[in-house]
Order: sequence, then structure tokens, then C-alpha cells
Amino acid sequence: MLKNNLGYPRVGSHRQLKKACEQYWAGKITTGDLNKVARSLKEEHWQLQLQAGIDLIPCNDFSYYDHVLDMSLTLGAIPQRYSKVLADVKDNREIDLYFAMARGYQKDGLDITAMEMTKWFDTNYHYIVPEFTANQQFSIFSEKVFAEYEHARSVCGDKAKPVLIGPVTYLLLGKEKEPGFHRIDLIKKLVPVYVEIINRLKLQGATWIQLDEPCLALDMSKKEKEALEYAYQAISNRVSGIKIMVATYFGALADNAPLALNLPVNALHIDLARAPEQSDEVLALIPDRLSLSLGVVDGRNIWKNDYEQSIQLVSKAAQVIGSNRIMIAPSCSLLHVPFDLDLETEIDYGVKNWMAFAKQKLAEVSDIYEIVNGDAAALAANKQANASRRESKLVHDKAIKQLQESVNESWYNRFSQFPVRQKLQHARFKLPLFPTTTIGSFPQTDDIRQLRAKFKKGEITRANYDASIEEATVQVIKWQEEAGIDVLVHGEFERNDMVEYFGEQLKGFLFTKNGWVQSYGSRCVKPPVIYGDVSRPADMTVRWSSFAQAQTALPMKGMLTGPVTILQWSFVRDDQPRSVTANQIALAIRQEVSALEQAGIGIIQIDEPAIREGLPLRKANHPHYLNWAVRAFRLSASGVEDQTQIHTHMCYSEFNGIIKHIAAMDADVITIETSRSQMELLEAFADFEYPNEIGPGVYDIHSPRVPSVTEMAGLLAKAAILLPARNIWVNPDCGLKTRKWPETKAALENMVAAAKQARELI
Ligand code: GLN
Ligand code: ZN
Repeated sequence: MLKNNLGYPRVGSHRQLKKACEQYWAGKITTGDLNKVARSLKEEHWQLQLQAGIDLIPCNDFSYYDHVLDMSLTLGAIPQRYSKVLADVKDNREIDLYFAMARGYQKDGLDITAMEMTKWFDTNYHYIVPEFTANQQFSIFSEKVFAEYEHARSVCGDKAKPVLIGPVTYLLLGKEKEPGFHRIDLIKKLVPVYVEIINRLKLQGATWIQLDEPCLALDMSKKEKEALEYAYQAISNRVSGIKIMVATYFGALADNAPLALNLPVNALHIDLARAPEQSDEVLALIPDRLSLSLGVVDGRNIWKNDYEQSIQLVSKAAQVIGSNRIMIAPSCSLLHVPFDLDLETEIDYGVKNWMAFAKQKLAEVSDIYEIVNGDAAALAANKQANASRRESKLVHDKAIKQLQESVNESWYNRFSQFPVRQKLQHARFKLPLFPTTTIGSFPQTDDIRQLRAKFKKGEITRANYDASIEEATVQVIKWQEEAGIDVLVHGEFERNDMVEYFGEQLKGFLFTKNGWVQSYGSRCVKPPVIYGDVSRPADMTVRWSSFAQAQTALPMKGMLTGPVTILQWSFVRDDQPRSVTANQIALAIRQEVSALEQAGIGIIQIDEPAIREGLPLRKANHPHYLNWAVRAFRLSASGVEDQTQIHTHMCYSEFNGIIKHIAAMDADVITIETSRSQMELLEAFADFEYPNEIGPGVYDIHSPRVPSVTEMAGLLAKAAILLPARNIWVNPDCGLKTRKWPETKAALENMVAAAKQARELI
């Protein structure tokens, strides 16, 4: 029985890699300096794994920016537009080409766009999307995997196991940049390069190689399944003397089980944290020659493993196929959890004792191995920790459970249907056609950020802090009035982050000091941890919204984050269904909505930018998710009078296929991101005859570019063809917090002028 690991977080316990990369980009350190940081991080992480007794230690899981981009460079899948960079960078330095692909290149008269980025399966990690052409060629370009294996071998010896993204998953992650072919058709060209890589690694001394094929947890077409069979048959025909492990994760194999289990490889890794129920089927179907890596330690969450449960899974498998064919492992790469719980000195011991980060998860793998092999020393403490979590008052709050039980169906519905509400709201607010508004945040200047940081560190008093935030708020309100915006916002200067701000005020949440997880490139996030029943001890936003409303006669939007987004961007407790936790958050937000209404706020926006990204990987699971997600939103939003106008906001969204669920949210107004698609995203709403009001973003907030009046008026005209004019609002794509003031003012002034033009044309 072996102890296996699939991947380790690479940024470092104190985000050393982030800092080094950013210094390198700023020209402050050399390539040599950067390499040194990388080398020492890799060595440190390999040592940790050696000490934890891991037998198969991943290498090439490290990456300066993204492991999918590494793969593209390894395979020579470098888009044509970078050939000039290759010529431009001195000594053909691969690292500069690499960062150019990741981040774009503006130097020496060249202006080359970065490659696209998108979410890695259902995680919050973003990868760089490979680009393919019809005539795509592959050949080994980067030597990274070989260099990294050699380095790992010098530290870990035979235990070093190179990791690559498997050929089918690699192709599926990419995008065709030309018409006329499907990327999966490239498999025949791609496989020979994999064969060459594997054979070279074997010559270097590698005994195992891990090929990640998480596409096996997705719905696969016939063609994709055939490509997978073809690829591994071809590899096995042309490779010998090295063992191949195919790793799947993030879900059950389900209908792909027979396919996965019959691949001509030496071992298959399965995710038993997400899908423990697949164990029986896999054991029933497994052929005699195949070893099984059991992913029992959850690589996607921060909770302590339940040893009793894991031991059951492992023992059962050992009984059926024999312990020499079994490996114990985390469910997926540990990339998605923070580095080391030991660094958290301020978490309540009670709660900390229920948690495990990457380093602790390695120890769990080793504990489970020891227990299964007869040394039960670690079992008692684990049992006790989990038992205390099940019973703890920190987790369970009777009052909240009673409140949840008292909720009946009427809580999910507004009093009247939308047409009735619309009439009442139009009479109340008397807004012009094409009313203008913004999404909430205004530029967060360095001054504002420093102010919040100082307050957090206790360097300024609450009174001083409040006074400065008030001043910024007053100014942004004055400016909006002068610019002629119809529905104002307070600017969100008091907020660091749209989830953290609420998490800090809700019961049941905790925050870490060092719990960083890589989001993309050098960007890391520190998700809150939802450990217990959620409740709202006090008002969260009323103070700032009331203050803002008191400064103006125009309507001031209250601004909240919705339950699904709060859930999606946190580590969520795993002792009850996510839908139940979502409901608790929804009840807390509902109370805040009522408090705002009581305080005289007539328009309240509940942001749900993450609803779409919460969609499960398999289509069959979509309806269940969408159903509870939409209900959570409705629960948060439906406790108000007909005259109170509920807005929601969503960005980065492709709405095709889920539009009926968006409509079921029944927000009076929805604002969405559409400008980069030239209103194309609005077509789904038009086809559906979306009944409620909608603000399709008329300008992209991701860039400092100021769009002209004509441009935005044109977009509005397009929108007015698709939807009834009286339902259309005018707003940017998203919040403005990352923008600078000059471009913000210019763009919003043009936006107001565009709305005026549109009104005249109607
Ligand atoms: N109200 C938030 C803001 O304006 C919304 C951010 C978002 O959608 N991601 O910043
Ligand atoms: Zn947004």
C-alpha cells in the first residue's frame, strides 16, 4: 500500500512566489533571483512530503503562473502572435515568452494580447486557455518537466513522480481559434509528443508518471471517449518500463467508469471525497492488473478528515483487490486549499481542531495508512475532534434551526406579481425612461485602501475612520447628482471585499491570517470559512445606506451580497448540504433587506455574480442546484413591500440555457455584463421574452478606455430592439472599484448623455 499525492500548493506559505513574480514583472529582480525562489519553494514542499512519508511525490505540479500554460509550452502550442515576442526577448528567454502569453506583451512597439483565462472545472482557480488552429502542430518546446524531474529526483530519489495534464483533458481545456475542426481531432498529432515526453522521463529514471484526466468527471461525448481510449492505447503500445497513473477528480466517474477502468494503464486515481458512493461500482468493475489510488482526503475543503469513514473505504478496497494494489491519497491536487494551519494562531482552538490545510492533509494520508496497517494511535484524537464538532454550540444554534423550520412557502414569494409591482414602483420613483445607475462600488483609491488598513490595525480611531468614509461618500453622492445619474449608490468605500464585508459581521464565519489560495497567476484569495449556523447579530449596512440616503433626495440603492455568492466564495461546512447553509445566509440577508426597507431605503440590490459559476460539472445535476440557488435568492429578497424595488446583479455570465432560472429569481431589475459581447448576451433574454426590468451593461469596466456617447447610445438602441424600452436600465457592466477617477467620470458622463439621446429617440 502506497501513500500518494497529486499536487501541492506552489505559491508558498507566505506567498513568496507571488511576491517574486511581481518583482520580476516590475523589473526589480532578475531571472536568476526568480528561479532561486522557485527552487527553494519546490525543495521545501518536497521535503515536507518526504517527511510526511509520502511514497509518490508529485513534481512538475509547480508553476510560475499556471500549469495548463506550462503544458502548452511543453507541447509547443504557442499561438502565432507570440512569434514576435520570441524574437524580441533577449536570448530567446522562455520565461519572458511564457509571461507574455499569460499577461500580454507591451514593449518595443509590440502590443500583443494575453491568452484567455477561464475557471478550472468548478474551482476558483483560473487557467490559461490553450489556443488551437486547424493545422496545429505539437512538438516538445519547453524542457521544464525534464528539468523539474531531475531536480525532484535529486531531493526525493525514486519517489519523484512527474505530473502532466493528460492529452484528452488538455485538448478539451482549449479552444479552436479557426473554424473547420474540432480540437479533439488533434489527438493523433498530440499523442506522439506525450510518448516522447514519457520515454524521456523514463530514461531520466522516472518509475511512475501521473496523467491528469479530470475530464472523466464530466459528461463526455462518444468522440471524446474514443479519443481517450485511443490515446492511452497508443501510449501503452509505445511506452514500457514506466508506470502510468491516470488521475480523475472533482466528481464521480459515473457513466465513464467502464471507460476509465479499462484504460491500459497501471493505476487509476478516483475522488472518494466528492463521490464516496462510486467505490462499490469501481471495485466491482476493476480489472486484475489495475491499482487504485483512493482520494479519501478532501483536497477541496479545509475540514479534518473523518478517519473512520476513510478507513472503511480503504479497508473495503483492500479486501476486494488486495492492499498491494491500493494507494491512499488526497482527492485532488492540494492546490485548492491553503498551505499550513499551524500558521493560524488566532483561530479559536475549538474550531481549529476541526480543520486541516495542505500540510495537515499530508499527515492525514499518513495517519490513515498507519491505522489501516494496525497502528491506531491517531484514531482516537480524530474521532474526538469530529465528535466535538458534531455536538458543538459553536456550530449548532437552536434558534436558527427553529427559524429555518418556521419558513413556509410564502417567504419565497413577493406579495404581488411583477406587473403589479412595476406599476407601484414606477409611481413611487418616477424615473425617466432608460434610468441610469451604477453597480455599487466607485474607485477605491490608495487613500481609501490605506484608511481601511489603518483602521483594521487599530492605528486610527473609529470616529476618524467613519469621518473619512463619510467624506468620501458625500463626495461621490454629490458627483453622481451633478452627473445626472438617476439612482445613486454610496460607493462601497467601507468595504474591502463583497463577501468578506458580510462574513465579518455574520455569525458562523471565521477568517484566516494566511489562508491564501491561488486564484490566477500571482493573485491569491483568502476565502472565509463558514463553520457554523449562520445568523445576523446586528444591522450590517444600514448605517452607511441611511447616511447616504440622508445626503440626497434621489433614490439611494442599498447594496448587499447574495446568499449564493457568499457561499460560492467561501469554504463551506461539509456537515450539512450546501443548500441548507445557503438558506441560513439567505435568512440573514432577508433580515438585512427588511432593516434597510424600515430605514427608508426603497431600492435594494442583492448581488449574485457567482450563481452561474456554482453550476455542477454534470448536466444531470444542474436542475437541483439551480432550484435551491434560485430559492435561496428568493428567500433573501421576498420579504419586502411591492413598492420596494429589488435589484440583482450578475457578471461574467453566459445565460444561455439558464435564463428561465434567472427569470425565476424574480428580481424587479437585473443588471448584467453585456458590453464586451455587443449586447449579444441580451439575446437570450429577448428570446425568452424576459418579463422584468434589465440593465445590460453599456461599458466594459475592465479597461480604462472611455466609450463615446455614440457607442453607448448605439448599444442602447440595440437593446431597445430586443426588449421593451420601458424595461431597460442604463449602467456599466460591473462595479467601478478597480478603475481610476478620471476615466470613471468621463465614462459615466458619456453614459448619462447616451441615455438622454436614447430617451429622445423613443
Ligand atoms: N456591488 C459590487 C460592486 O459594485 C458588485 C461586484 C461584482 O459584481 N463582482 O463592486
Ligand atoms: Zn459584477
